[in-house]
Amino acid sequence: MSASSERDTQQTGRHGFGDLRETAVDKVTRLTRELARSEARFRDVIERNADAIVVVDATGIIRFVNQAATSLFERTRQQLIGSAFGFPVLGGETTELELVRGGRPRTVEMRVVASEWEGGAAFIASLRDMTERKNAEETARRLALEQTARATAEDAVARLSFLLESTTVFTSSLNADAVLENLARLCVGRLADWAVIYAVASDGSAQRTHVVHADPAKAAVATALQSVRILPRGPHPVLDVIQTRRRHIVSSIDDTFIDSVTSDTRERELVRALGLTSYVLLPVAAHDRVFGALALAASTPARQFTPTDVALADDLAARAGLAVENATLYEEANVANRGKADLLAVVSHDLRTPLNAIIGYADLLDLGLPEPIGERSKTQVGRIRTSARHLVYLLDELLDFARLDAGGVTIRRSRIDALVVLREVRDVMEPLAAKAGLSLVVDAADTPQWVITDADKLRQILLNLVGNAIKYTRHGTITIGVRDGDRLRISVHDTGIGIAPENLSRVFEPFWQVDPSERARHTGTGLGLSVVRRLAELLGGEVTVESRVVDGSTFVVALPSTTN
Ligand code: ADP
Repeated sequence: MSASSERDTQQTGRHGFGDLRETAVDKVTRLTRELARSEARFRDVIERNADAIVVVDATGIIRFVNQAATSLFERTRQQLIGSAFGFPVLGGETTELELVRGGRPRTVEMRVVASEWEGGAAFIASLRDMTERKNAEETARRLALEQTARATAEDAVARLSFLLESTTVFTSSLNADAVLENLARLCVGRLADWAVIYAVASDGSAQRTHVVHADPAKAAVATALQSVRILPRGPHPVLDVIQTRRRHIVSSIDDTFIDSVTSDTRERELVRALGLTSYVLLPVAAHDRVFGALALAASTPARQFTPTDVALADDLAARAGLAVENATLYEEANVANRGKADLLAVVSHDLRTPLNAIIGYADLLDLGLPEPIGERSKTQVGRIRTSARHLVYLLDELLDFARLDAGGVTIRRSRIDALVVLREVRDVMEPLAAKAGLSLVVDAADTPQWVITDADKLRQILLNLVGNAIKYTRHGTITIGVRDGDRLRISVHDTGIGIAPENLSRVFEPFWQVDPSERARHTGTGLGLSVVRRLAELLGGEVTVESRVVDGSTFVVALPSTTN
């Protein structure tokens, strides 16, 4: 507009300096020409515009369209000009239209300006096809969503594998202290710059039992903090976390905060030296027991605990809590077991002494001391002695079991010929077998079977197995065999009552007997085979059984074949 005014001025100037004055007719003609030129220029500009331009008059009829508009609407100028535009037009507005072109929906952005056209009020609508841009935006949005989803999924997988790894670490130990140490170590790096485990004492005080820092330079401070006791009813929030079992988060740590949670100058200085910026305190608990607390701390402002971090820490602390509970229960069971074994050992030992006295005096009476006794009395004395001996045998089994259970058995290994032990067992047990109408044989080649083992324990195992074979066989033969190979296999085979398949795995359990009515007949303890199994394991071997009801049983003791 300003350029054209300049030209007007120049032209006026030329007239001004040329012929005296422009006539009114000349002026109208000139202005009309000017207007026509300007309109032509305007149309030309509109025509070349990349956007579709539609001029709509006040009644909504299209008065002009450019080339781009004919392409957008897929109509000729003749079809468009004079027809109703169909879209509401409001000056100064930008709206989004949905056009269906060639069966495909298109998104068009329409900007409208109020103007004039050929002397009347009109609206000039410029329309731009935004479909491609929209599609590109939509693709970018989907891509971003997919990337976020993938990142979230990858993060979830990483967290899950971290939790799985931690579970494996926790369950690999039945020691509560090791579980807590592992908990602190796992958190450092992945979740925090340093981690502390707090334990509570019965007086309500707390102690930092494990302090792990990512920065080795802070290790000394971390260790020094372990010796600082957190006094009961003191200001430290860990006391509250342990009592309420609720987590505590401090998102920004400053000196005022450190002053408020520490009880003395030394502790204050040590905590300050760690340079903490934020921390989370979580209870380590399981079921109705609280074992302590876990503190995760950041020492760089860049590390912030996100809700995901806190949830992961919660999960980790809960898993550690369960592992500590298991370890504690295991330790408690062990203590109880040791107590039971000690009691059994004491009782069995104390019962043996008077029993030996009973057997000794029965022997003396049998020998006619201090004076001879009659035949009927001798029978009764014999029964006293047999019963007392049986009691000694039962006590011996109990004592063996108690000793093995308490782990109080020492193994003394030496290089021995297993065949010699087999023959000894046969010699000891043969009278018993003969009394039961059974034959007892050693079936082995006459070559030494060297093995490094504890001969006494091996003898005890075989005496038990042969004793059982005699007890549970009515007729036939008991065979002791030996075979060499990757391991030395000593077998005790009988032709007895056998064991039903469903009971095979249970015969080695302590106090377990197949048939309670047999118990009455044989008055065993149900401990013999559990003693055998434990002894075999102590020798580095194992004992197995194969059996068929009525046909008989074969027990095999396999020992490591270390012959050198
Ligand atoms: P006990 O003989 O004192 O009952 P054990 O622990 O030695 O206890 O054996 C457990 C059970 O296994 C026995 O009660 C018996 O029923 C069964 N058993 C053991 N050895 C044999 C065998 N050679 N033949 C059949 N049953 C057997």
